[in-house]
Amino acid sequence: MSFLRKSPFVLYSDGKGNIFEDRSLYAIGRSGWDAFEVELASWIPLPEGGSLYELPDRRGIGIDVRTGEMRLCEKGWAVAAFIPPAHTGLYLAAFESKPEAETLPLFCYTAAGWFNNQFYVTALRIEQDIRQESAGYHENEIEHGVEKLLKAYPHNRLVKHLAENCCLTYHCPAARNFFIGRWECPVPSSPACNANCIGCISFQPSDETITSTQDRLQFKPSAEEIVEFTVPHLETAPYPIVSFGQGCEGEPLLMWETIRESITEMRKHTSKGSININTNGSKPDAVRKLCEAGLNSIRVSTNSARKHIYEKYYLPNNYVFEDIVESLKVVNSFGGWTSINYFVFPGMTDSEEEYEALRKLIRETGLKMIQWRNFNIDPDWYLGKIRVTDTGNAFGIANIMKELKEEFPDLKYGYFNPPIERIKGDFAADFAH
Ligand code: SF4
Repeated sequence: MSFLRKSPFVLYSDGKGNIFEDRSLYAIGRSGWDAFEVELASWIPLPEGGSLYELPDRRGIGIDVRTGEMRLCEKGWAVAAFIPPAHTGLYLAAFESKPEAETLPLFCYTAAGWFNNQFYVTALRIEQDIRQESAGYHENEIEHGVEKLLKAYPHNRLVKHLAENCCLTYHCPAARNFFIGRWECPVPSSPACNANCIGCISFQPSDETITSTQDRLQFKPSAEEIVEFTVPHLETAPYPIVSFGQGCEGEPLLMWETIRESITEMRKHTSKGSININTNGSKPDAVRKLCEAGLNSIRVSTNSARKHIYEKYYLPNNYVFEDIVESLKVVNSFGGWTSINYFVFPGMTDSEEEYEALRKLIRETGLKMIQWRNFNIDPDWYLGKIRVTDTGNAFGIANIMKELKEEFPDLKYGYFNPPIERIKGDFAADFAH
């Protein structure tokens, strides 16, 4: 228990948005269904852009500073952290839910504590790229950019959607970067999806207890509308990327003909930048067509490298886990960049079974990159929905990252799709620009 003396203290809230530390309890973390002491190295100060959430009708769990016993904090509601992009959470917040507790909204709930007059979280910075640093956004610059591009493309429904919905309403970092004329430009295109993810952020069934965090696109953009603003972005933006597949749409591969036409047209006008698709990877044949047209990179989203865990969460229509594996293989066969958008859930992601399945996936597909993303979902609700009562032995998120790097030294880690300069150049190059 000695190292605990340097551990942060448990946080609790009064249910009115005020947060306090409980100096009778050391903060700990959760992995799967269980609470654990957290090694000191896993605690970092809460990064800028992060925020704290009070968890209604939930009690935090900690270790009694005098007895060393694990017990509940009875002083108020539990508190968790929403950590900012570029950081991966290592432990979930440890709490016990009361029977009347409602499902938490679609955010990540990382373990948090208080120490030395500062908030701490269990996380690590996995990505040096600063494209979504909160300090990099200036409202007047964004508003000026929106005005300029709405004037430049007065009849473009997609630019209007990106301006009014994504940038000005949801403050989507990718849309903001587009209107500032830099880096990754989002291109949503699909109002429909062929999966039914339990934690879908753009669509939640009306009988569900939670709401989606953003509304889905309501129209199908034309290739002309897409090409009109993406070519100038590829031509003029620093480290330009055009990314199909965004949080405010369904599955882009259902629009593969329009996307293929767009890529073909883009590449007639410019060879600059990277053309990427963020996708559920469900249609490898469509992916092949896009590669033939000039697609440079793919990011396949998944909660797991295990078929049964994947299919219990994605609830796919007319496709299977093997299809997403095949999509990665197809892009690899064209020499394209392949990433997985890996939803990190401590206890599941670092379980023995998952680790073995992930090693197999990397070997089979020649995977280039893992984007270690925080899973935005209520932990109890998720495990309940996929009917997992025991997550098995877990190695620790940081440990499996280390092990995989030793086995696959060329495998890259990050949080964002890399620009062509990194894909083709020195991946580790200082990207702070
Ligand atoms: S694949 Fe994406 S859009 Fe489709 S249900 Fe899942 S999260 Fe939602």
